[in-house]
Amino acid sequence: AIRVENVCHRFGSNTVLNNLSLTVPQGTIIALLGPSGCGKSTLLKLLAGLLHPDAGQVFFGTQKVVDGRFSLPPEKRDLGMVFQDYALWPHMTVAQNVAFPLQMRGIARPLRQQRVLAALDRVGLADFEQRRPYELSGGQQQRVALARAIVAEPQILLFDEPLSNLDRDLRETLCTEMAVLLRQLGTTAVYVTHDQQEAEALAHAIARMKQGVIERIDYLQKPAVSPFVA
Ligand code: ATP
Ligand code: MG
Repeated sequence: AIRVENVCHRFGSNTVLNNLSLTVPQGTIIALLGPSGCGKSTLLKLLAGLLHPDAGQVFFGTQKVVDGRFSLPPEKRDLGMVFQDYALWPHMTVAQNVAFPLQMRGIARPLRQQRVLAALDRVGLADFEQRRPYELSGGQQQRVALARAIVAEPQILLFDEPLSNLDRDLRETLCTEMAVLLRQLGTTAVYVTHDQQEAEALAHAIARMKQGVIERIDYLQKPAVSPFVA
């Protein structure tokens, strides 16, 4: 679970997060929608530990990750992230990119290799481990980024408009694949998107953000993905 309590963040005189609170129950995928500039990416950076808020607390499960001056460093937070621009290391192979979070956690090479292959298999890239990012299409690069995010089986996944750089057909395909994968993993996730349809396909609930606060949360009635698909 993620619990954000009364978080405030300012850039100069611009109040971007305005006493924001949000709870994401264990195993729930929350889609975060809202106009450009309302603070969605800022909230994700704060969860990831890339920004420290001016005030407020953040908990992952029972673990306190932000409180006052205390901030658990990003590499110690049990989470995976996928960004709009993939953010793969160009000089590394696909396998090396995906292995990175395991290396950070000190996992030995044989087990690392096994888990990298399993993660690549899950995103449909079993034969791509020796390629470099520039030898892949945009959709394939985003699958690699997804494999890297899930390889260490983190407690929390954060997505910042991961499909917005892809064309519409590919977006739909990847959206369906990710919905199935996220359901299988059962990971708690925050998924930022501009696309209402994408939000409905992926999430258990849609949180609407405006000017630095969560205005409301709509819980989706039907299971977002038919159990027969998986
Ligand atoms: P979009 O949908 O366009 O991605 P967003 O909701 O993700 O928008 P944020 O990136 O969180 O918006 O930005 C919120 C506000 O904070 C914007 O006004 C932005 O200009 C400002 N901002 C973000 N990062 C910084 C920074 N490092 N320094 C100063 N201002 C910033
Ligand atoms: Mg953003």
